[in-house]
Amino acid sequence: MLIDVHAHLDMLEESPAEVLARAKAAGVQKIVTIGTEPKDHEFVLQTARQFYPDIYCTLGVHPHQGMLWQPEVGEWIEKHVVEKEVIAVGEIGLDYYYNQSPVEEQRLAFRKQLEIAERTQMPVQIHTREADQDTYEILKDFDGRVKGLIHCFTSSQKLAEQCLSMGYNISFSGIVTFKNAESLRETCKLVPLDRIHVETDSPFLAPVPQRGKKNTPAYVVHVAQVVANIKGISVEELTQRTNENARQLFPKIQW
Ligand SMILES: [Zn+2]
Ligand SMILES: [Zn+2]
Repeated sequence: MLIDVHAHLDMLEESPAEVLARAKAAGVQKIVTIGTEPKDHEFVLQTARQFYPDIYCTLGVHPHQGMLWQPEVGEWIEKHVVEKEVIAVGEIGLDYYYNQSPVEEQRLAFRKQLEIAERTQMPVQIHTREADQDTYEILKDFDGRVKGLIHCFTSSQKLAEQCLSMGYNISFSGIVTFKNAESLRETCKLVPLDRIHVETDSPFLAPVPQRGKKNTPAYVVHVAQVVANIKGISVEELTQRTNENARQLFPKIQW
C-alpha cells in the first residue's frame, strides 16, 4: 500500500472521509495533508486528528503566503508541530514563478520556519519553484541541522544534486508522467531509491492518464507506476522503498 506524502485535502470538494475511502480502494493507505496558511491550519490539524493514523498533516506557511508571516504564526506552528498527527513543518520554501508574496517576505518566512524545524527537531516539506539559487543558499545555512523532502520536484538537476548532498529526499508528483517532462524523468533517474518519494499534490497536477481531472490521492498509483518504470523496478518494490523512506524521514507515521 502506498502513501501520498503531499496532498491538500482542504482544497478538495470531496470530504476527507470520501478521499480516504477512494484512496484505500486504489491501494493508497496513508495521506499527508499539507498546511499552507494560518486560516487553514485548524482544518488541516482537525482532519489529521479525526483520521489518525491514516491521515497526517504538516503545518507551515507556503511561500505564496509569505506575506502573512508573523511571529505569532510561528509560535502557533511551533506549539502544534509536536503533536502526534503532525509529521513535518511545511510546506515552506520559495516560489519565484508566481511571486504571490514579495521575495523578501518569502525568504524571511522560509528561514523562520527552518529555525522552528531545527528547534523542534522536525523534518520539513519544501516547495521550490524558479528559485534554485536562493533555495540552495538558505538550505546551506541549515546544512546538517534540518532534514526533509523537496516536494513536487521540478527544478534543475543541479539543485537535485545539491539537495541530495545536503541530505534531503526528493518527491515526484504527476508532473513526472507528463509527455513534455523528459528532463524531469532524467533527474528522477539520479535520485537514489533510498531517497525518493511519490505524491499527488492534489487537487493540482493530476497524472496521466487522469490528466485534466481534479487530482486525488488515489492517483498516486499512476505516479508510482511511472517512477517505477523510470527506475526499472516493479511498483511493489517502489512501494516498499518509498514506504521505508517515509518511515525513516517521518518517524511519527504509524504503520
Ligand atoms: Zn508546493
Ligand atoms: Zn502543496
